[in-house]
Amino acid sequence: MNSPSERTRVRRNASRAEYAPEIVNGILDANRICHAAYVESGEPRIIPTLYMRRGAYVYLHGNRQSALLRHLAAGGVAALSVISVEGVVVARSGFHCSMNYHSVVLFGQGEPVPDAEHEGVLEQFVEALIPGHLKRLRRATPQELAATLAVRMPLHEASAKIRTGDPIDDPNDLQADVWAGVIPLLTAVGLPVSSGDLKAGLEVPDYVRAYGVRP
Ligand SMILES: Cc1cc2nc3c(=O)[nH]c(=O)nc-3n(C[C@H](O)[C@H](O)[C@H](O)COP(=O)(O)OP(=O)(O)OC[C@H]3O[C@@H](n4cnc5c(N)ncnc54)[C@H](O)[C@@H]3O)c2cc1C
Repeated sequence: MNSPSERTRVRRNASRAEYAPEIVNGILDANRICHAAYVESGEPRIIPTLYMRRGAYVYLHGNRQSALLRHLAAGGVAALSVISVEGVVVARSGFHCSMNYHSVVLFGQGEPVPDAEHEGVLEQFVEALIPGHLKRLRRATPQELAATLAVRMPLHEASAKIRTGDPIDDPNDLQADVWAGVIPLLTAVGLPVSSGDLKAGLEVPDYVRAYGVRP
Protein backbone atom coordinates (compact mmCIF):
# COMPACT_ATOMS: atom_id res chain seq x y z
CA MET A 1 0.00 0.00 0.00
CA ASN A 2 3.05 2.30 0.03
CA SER A 3 2.74 3.32 -3.59
CA PRO A 4 -0.55 4.24 -5.26
CA SER A 5 -2.34 2.27 -7.92
CA GLU A 6 -3.56 4.11 -11.01
CA ARG A 7 -6.92 4.77 -9.39
CA THR A 8 -5.69 5.67 -5.90
CA ARG A 9 -3.07 8.17 -7.11
CA VAL A 10 -4.19 11.60 -5.89
CA ARG A 11 -3.97 14.11 -8.78
CA ARG A 12 -5.04 17.47 -7.28
CA ASN A 13 -2.85 18.81 -4.44
CA ALA A 14 -0.89 15.60 -4.63
CA SER A 15 1.44 16.82 -1.87
CA ARG A 16 -1.45 16.15 0.53
CA ALA A 17 -1.56 12.49 -0.44
CA GLU A 18 -0.28 9.69 1.77
CA TYR A 19 -0.09 6.02 0.92
CA ALA A 20 1.88 4.65 3.87
CA PRO A 21 -0.09 2.00 5.78
CA GLU A 22 0.57 3.66 9.14
CA ILE A 23 -1.01 6.91 7.90
CA VAL A 24 -3.99 5.21 6.24
CA ASN A 25 -4.51 2.93 9.25
CA GLY A 26 -4.27 5.85 11.67
CA ILE A 27 -7.11 7.68 9.91
CA LEU A 28 -9.19 4.51 9.68
CA ASP A 29 -8.68 3.79 13.39
CA ALA A 30 -9.62 7.32 14.40
CA ASN A 31 -13.00 7.10 12.67
CA ARG A 32 -16.00 4.78 12.70
CA ILE A 33 -18.25 5.62 9.78
CA CYS A 34 -17.58 5.02 6.11
CA HIS A 35 -19.63 5.44 2.97
CA ALA A 36 -19.52 2.23 0.94
CA ALA A 37 -20.24 2.54 -2.78
CA TYR A 38 -20.89 -0.34 -5.13
CA VAL A 39 -22.67 -1.09 -8.40
CA GLU A 40 -25.90 -3.05 -8.55
CA SER A 41 -27.59 -3.86 -11.86
CA GLY A 42 -25.32 -1.31 -13.52
CA GLU A 43 -26.32 1.51 -11.19
CA PRO A 44 -24.32 3.20 -8.40
CA ARG A 45 -25.36 2.61 -4.79
CA ILE A 46 -23.95 4.16 -1.61
CA ILE A 47 -24.61 3.30 2.03
CA PRO A 48 -23.28 4.87 5.26
CA THR A 49 -22.18 2.22 7.72
CA LEU A 50 -19.93 1.44 10.66
CA TYR A 51 -16.59 -0.18 9.97
CA MET A 52 -13.55 -1.29 11.90
CA ARG A 53 -10.00 -2.03 10.82
CA ARG A 54 -8.24 -5.12 12.07
CA GLY A 55 -4.82 -5.89 10.58
CA ALA A 56 -4.89 -5.55 6.82
CA TYR A 57 -8.70 -5.65 6.53
CA VAL A 58 -11.64 -3.31 6.95
CA TYR A 59 -14.70 -5.10 8.35
CA LEU A 60 -18.38 -4.27 7.85
CA HIS A 61 -21.34 -5.98 9.45
CA GLY A 62 -25.11 -5.77 9.61
CA ASN A 63 -28.33 -7.52 8.71
CA ARG A 64 -27.83 -10.63 6.58
CA GLN A 65 -30.32 -9.21 4.04
CA SER A 66 -28.30 -6.01 3.48
CA ALA A 67 -27.72 -5.59 -0.25
CA LEU A 68 -24.25 -4.10 0.33
CA LEU A 69 -23.13 -6.89 2.64
CA ARG A 70 -24.50 -9.62 0.37
CA HIS A 71 -22.70 -8.00 -2.57
CA LEU A 72 -19.40 -8.00 -0.69
CA ALA A 73 -19.87 -11.48 0.74
CA ALA A 74 -20.31 -12.73 -2.84
CA GLY A 75 -16.92 -11.26 -3.79
CA GLY A 76 -18.26 -8.00 -5.22
CA VAL A 77 -16.10 -4.89 -5.42
CA ALA A 78 -16.74 -1.66 -3.55
CA ALA A 79 -15.22 1.73 -2.81
CA LEU A 80 -15.12 3.05 0.75
CA SER A 81 -14.68 6.66 1.83
CA VAL A 82 -13.81 7.76 5.39
CA ILE A 83 -13.45 11.38 6.45
CA SER A 84 -12.96 13.50 9.54
CA VAL A 85 -13.16 17.29 9.27
CA GLU A 86 -11.20 19.48 11.63
CA GLY A 87 -11.83 22.99 10.41
CA VAL A 88 -13.31 25.44 7.96
CA VAL A 89 -10.58 27.28 6.10
CA VAL A 90 -11.58 30.92 5.57
CA ALA A 91 -9.54 32.42 2.77
CA ARG A 92 -9.33 35.87 1.23
CA SER A 93 -10.94 34.63 -1.98
CA GLY A 94 -13.77 32.21 -2.56
CA PHE A 95 -11.47 30.08 -4.67
CA HIS A 96 -9.17 29.29 -1.73
CA CYS A 97 -11.82 28.71 0.95
CA SER A 98 -11.54 25.09 1.99
CA MET A 99 -11.70 22.58 4.85
CA ASN A 100 -9.08 20.87 6.96
CA TYR A 101 -9.59 17.13 6.90
CA HIS A 102 -8.15 13.62 7.06
CA SER A 103 -9.68 11.26 4.52
CA VAL A 104 -9.17 7.78 3.12
CA VAL A 105 -10.46 6.13 -0.04
CA LEU A 106 -10.24 2.35 -0.33
CA PHE A 107 -11.03 0.07 -3.28
CA GLY A 108 -11.35 -3.64 -2.91
CA GLN A 109 -13.11 -6.92 -3.32
CA GLY A 110 -15.25 -8.21 -0.50
CA GLU A 111 -15.10 -11.61 1.12
CA PRO A 112 -17.14 -13.21 3.89
CA VAL A 113 -15.57 -13.40 7.33
CA PRO A 114 -14.72 -17.08 7.94
CA ASP A 115 -17.34 -18.85 10.09
CA ALA A 116 -14.80 -19.53 12.82
CA GLU A 117 -14.19 -15.78 13.20
CA HIS A 118 -17.82 -14.61 12.85
CA GLU A 119 -18.75 -14.28 16.53
CA GLY A 120 -15.39 -12.80 17.47
CA VAL A 121 -15.65 -10.13 14.77
CA LEU A 122 -19.15 -9.16 15.93
CA GLU A 123 -17.85 -8.87 19.49
CA GLN A 124 -14.99 -6.70 18.31
CA PHE A 125 -17.49 -4.37 16.65
CA VAL A 126 -19.17 -3.86 20.04
CA GLU A 127 -15.85 -3.34 21.79
CA ALA A 128 -14.63 -0.94 19.09
CA LEU A 129 -17.80 1.16 19.36
CA ILE A 130 -18.17 1.07 23.17
CA PRO A 131 -14.89 0.07 24.82
CA GLY A 132 -15.50 -1.87 28.05
CA HIS A 133 -19.12 -2.79 27.26
CA LEU A 134 -18.69 -6.26 25.84
CA LYS A 135 -17.73 -7.99 29.08
CA ARG A 136 -21.03 -6.84 30.68
CA LEU A 137 -23.14 -8.41 27.93
CA ARG A 138 -24.65 -11.88 27.53
CA ARG A 139 -23.35 -13.85 24.56
CA ALA A 140 -25.14 -13.40 21.24
CA THR A 141 -27.78 -16.06 20.64
CA PRO A 142 -27.51 -18.45 17.66
CA GLN A 143 -30.44 -16.56 16.11
CA GLU A 144 -28.66 -13.23 16.49
CA LEU A 145 -25.47 -14.66 15.03
CA ALA A 146 -27.37 -16.14 12.10
CA ALA A 147 -29.17 -12.85 11.41
CA THR A 148 -25.89 -10.96 11.11
CA LEU A 149 -23.45 -10.94 8.22
CA ALA A 150 -19.84 -9.83 8.57
CA VAL A 151 -17.63 -9.15 5.56
CA ARG A 152 -14.20 -7.70 5.02
CA MET A 153 -12.17 -5.93 2.37
CA PRO A 154 -8.37 -6.11 2.14
CA LEU A 155 -6.45 -2.88 2.57
CA HIS A 156 -4.37 -3.36 -0.58
CA GLU A 157 -5.48 -0.32 -2.49
CA ALA A 158 -5.99 2.72 -0.31
CA SER A 159 -5.00 6.37 -0.29
CA ALA A 160 -5.15 9.10 2.31
CA LYS A 161 -5.42 12.82 1.74
CA ILE A 162 -4.80 15.34 4.50
CA ARG A 163 -5.23 19.11 4.61
CA THR A 164 -4.10 21.05 7.65
CA GLY A 165 -3.22 24.62 8.48
CA ASP A 166 -3.88 28.11 7.21
CA PRO A 167 -5.57 29.20 4.02
CA ILE A 168 -3.20 29.40 1.08
CA ASP A 169 -4.11 32.66 -0.56
CA ASP A 170 -2.88 34.35 -3.69
CA PRO A 171 -0.06 36.78 -2.78
CA ASN A 172 -2.07 39.63 -4.33
CA ASP A 173 -4.90 39.03 -1.83
CA LEU A 174 -2.84 39.05 1.37
CA GLN A 175 -3.38 42.77 2.02
CA ALA A 176 -7.16 42.59 1.45
CA ASP A 177 -9.42 43.80 4.29
CA VAL A 178 -10.79 40.28 4.66
CA TRP A 179 -10.41 38.08 7.74
CA ALA A 180 -8.69 34.78 7.03
CA GLY A 181 -7.94 31.80 9.21
CA VAL A 182 -9.40 28.53 10.40
CA ILE A 183 -12.63 27.90 12.30
CA PRO A 184 -12.00 24.65 14.21
CA LEU A 185 -14.72 22.00 14.05
CA LEU A 186 -14.90 19.62 17.01
CA THR A 187 -16.77 16.42 17.73
CA ALA A 188 -17.71 16.53 21.39
CA VAL A 189 -18.75 13.71 23.75
CA GLY A 190 -21.75 14.74 25.84
CA LEU A 191 -22.97 13.49 29.19
CA PRO A 192 -24.55 10.00 29.01
CA VAL A 193 -28.37 9.92 29.15
CA SER A 194 -29.75 6.79 30.84
CA SER A 195 -32.53 4.84 29.11
CA GLY A 196 -36.01 5.66 30.32
CA ASP A 197 -36.56 1.98 31.09
CA LEU A 198 -33.22 1.45 32.88
CA LYS A 199 -33.37 -1.01 35.78
CA ALA A 200 -33.70 0.90 39.04
CA GLY A 201 -30.46 1.46 40.92
CA LEU A 202 -28.07 1.11 37.95
CA GLU A 203 -25.43 3.82 37.84
CA VAL A 204 -23.67 5.01 34.71
CA PRO A 205 -20.56 2.79 34.62
CA ASP A 206 -17.05 4.18 34.55
CA TYR A 207 -16.37 2.98 31.01
CA VAL A 208 -19.39 4.99 29.80
CA ARG A 209 -18.36 8.07 31.80
CA ALA A 210 -14.89 7.76 30.29
CA TYR A 211 -16.17 7.39 26.72
CA GLY A 212 -13.90 9.16 24.30
CA VAL A 213 -11.20 9.87 26.89
CA ARG A 214 -7.97 8.40 25.64
CA PRO A 215 -5.80 6.70 28.27
C1 LIG B 1 -23.92 6.25 11.23
C2 LIG B 1 -24.54 5.01 10.64
C3 LIG B 1 -24.03 3.76 10.97
C4 LIG B 1 -24.61 2.61 10.43
N1 LIG B 1 -24.04 1.40 10.71
C5 LIG B 1 -24.54 0.30 10.12
C6 LIG B 1 -23.92 -0.98 10.31
O1 LIG B 1 -22.90 -1.12 10.99
N2 LIG B 1 -24.46 -2.06 9.69
C7 LIG B 1 -25.57 -1.93 8.91
O2 LIG B 1 -26.02 -2.95 8.36
N3 LIG B 1 -26.18 -0.76 8.71
C8 LIG B 1 -25.69 0.36 9.29
N4 LIG B 1 -26.30 1.57 9.08
C9 LIG B 1 -27.54 1.60 8.31
C10 LIG B 1 -27.25 1.53 6.81
O3 LIG B 1 -26.98 2.85 6.34
C11 LIG B 1 -28.44 0.93 6.05
O4 LIG B 1 -29.58 1.71 6.29
C12 LIG B 1 -28.68 -0.48 6.48
O5 LIG B 1 -27.54 -1.26 6.18
C13 LIG B 1 -29.93 -1.09 5.86
O6 LIG B 1 -29.67 -1.32 4.58
P1 LIG B 1 -30.77 -1.94 3.64
O7 LIG B 1 -30.31 -3.29 3.22
O8 LIG B 1 -32.13 -1.77 4.16
O9 LIG B 1 -30.59 -0.89 2.54
P2 LIG B 1 -30.58 -1.11 1.02
O10 LIG B 1 -31.67 -2.03 0.65
O11 LIG B 1 -29.19 -1.39 0.60
O12 LIG B 1 -30.93 0.39 0.65
C14 LIG B 1 -31.95 0.71 -0.23
C15 LIG B 1 -32.01 2.21 -0.32
O13 LIG B 1 -32.45 2.73 0.94
C16 LIG B 1 -31.86 3.98 1.14
N5 LIG B 1 -31.07 3.93 2.38
C17 LIG B 1 -30.53 2.84 2.99
N6 LIG B 1 -29.87 3.21 4.08
C18 LIG B 1 -29.98 4.54 4.17
C19 LIG B 1 -29.48 5.49 5.09
N7 LIG B 1 -28.71 5.14 6.14
N8 LIG B 1 -29.79 6.79 4.89
C20 LIG B 1 -30.56 7.16 3.84
N9 LIG B 1 -31.02 6.31 2.93
C21 LIG B 1 -30.73 5.01 3.09
C22 LIG B 1 -30.96 4.26 -0.04
O14 LIG B 1 -31.65 5.02 -1.01
C23 LIG B 1 -30.67 2.88 -0.57
O15 LIG B 1 -30.31 2.87 -1.94
C24 LIG B 1 -25.73 2.73 9.56
C25 LIG B 1 -26.21 3.99 9.23
C26 LIG B 1 -25.62 5.11 9.74
C27 LIG B 1 -26.15 6.47 9.31
